[in-house]
Amino acid sequence: MEGSAALREQDLEFDYIVVGAGSAGCVLANRLSSDGRHTVLLLEAGPKDTNIWIHVPLGYGKLFKEKTVNWMYQTEPEPGLDGRSVFQPRGKVLGGSSSINGLLYVRGQHEDYDRWRQRGNIGWGYDDVLPYFKRAENQSRGADTYHGTGGPLPVSDWRHEDPLSEAFVKAAVETGLPFNGDFNGASQEGAGFFQTTTRRGRRASSAVSYLRPALGRSNLHVETDALAQRLLFEGRRASGVTFSQRGRQRTARARKEILVSSGAYNSPQLLQLSGIGPADLLKQHGIDVVLDAPGVGSDLQDHLQVRIVMR
Ligand SMILES: Cc1cc2nc3c(=O)[nH]c(=O)nc-3n(C[C@H](O)[C@H](O)[C@H](O)COP(=O)(O)OP(=O)(O)OC[C@H]3O[C@@H](n4cnc5c(N)ncnc54)[C@H](O)[C@@H]3O)c2cc1C
Repeated sequence: MEGSAALREQDLEFDYIVVGAGSAGCVLANRLSSDGRHTVLLLEAGPKDTNIWIHVPLGYGKLFKEKTVNWMYQTEPEPGLDGRSVFQPRGKVLGGSSSINGLLYVRGQHEDYDRWRQRGNIGWGYDDVLPYFKRAENQSRGADTYHGTGGPLPVSDWRHEDPLSEAFVKAAVETGLPFNGDFNGASQEGAGFFQTTTRRGRRASSAVSYLRPALGRSNLHVETDALAQRLLFEGRRASGVTFSQRGRQRTARARKEILVSSGAYNSPQLLQLSGIGPADLLKQHGIDVVLDAPGVGSDLQDHLQVRIVMR
């Protein structure tokens, strides 16, 4: 428990409940509590981010299979991968996957956002989201058309210079690829060096950048080791969350909204357990259907990483 003083059971009522303190959840908790007008509860299934390997970039390898801070999922056999089952790490700790990820600062392609907008998602085109990226950022190279300074998220150049990496990028350019000095600028195409979400050589997870500065607010309350199990509804309105915490079953109520930011795997899982998902599937498992939403839990896309190790 962090933030405000320990709560009695009858006090578990807030304006907003944020489920999952990962990349998105820590930002939501910070922004929703910033003007002091609303009370916010942040629930996180994992522990506090005290493992020292979280905070040094070298710790990436140590956390990749560290079950105390990682869900360590394994896929079903993948038809597109000749039936292979693939290991899927996901952060389970304050900061979520931003506490265990590869630290590369990559926003996504302009075209991907524009396609979302073309499909009817007003407000999600690249021009729409760019001001928010800039507002979030504290770019060590300074502000320009694509970058901002003064935001909570530090972005900096890789400190370590390696002649082999330099030679690799040079070789890529010699084969005809353009050199790209900024993968979050005009285009993502080309070879070059990533920037990282680090500050003075330390990992800038969303817990470090967004949650820590907000922990002193009396209207923000954080519960760790708190696994949300089901959303509760009054009619079609989500009104509460049941969660288990160190062997105890607890319930928190939301006066305004519940924000599910439990990650790409656990968000749809929580929705399905709560009755939001493909009706047939839910019925098979004896779950009362609140909303028949066939898209919940399907169409996941992820990028493959193939590592080549050579002597
Ligand atoms: C090993 C690895 C390397 C990566 N490398 C990079 C990289 O270099 N650059 C990059 O841009 N992206 C990278 N990513 C991806 C990036 O980290 C994620 O896309 C991003 O963190 C997802 O944010 P999120 O808020 O959706 O989920 P997460 O950050 O995963 O947060 C979800 C949170 O919800 C919690 N939670 C889940 N279920 C419940 C529940 N039922 N009750 C309570 N809490 C719950 C989880 O424990 C977690 O803390 C990497 C990811 C991994 C795993």
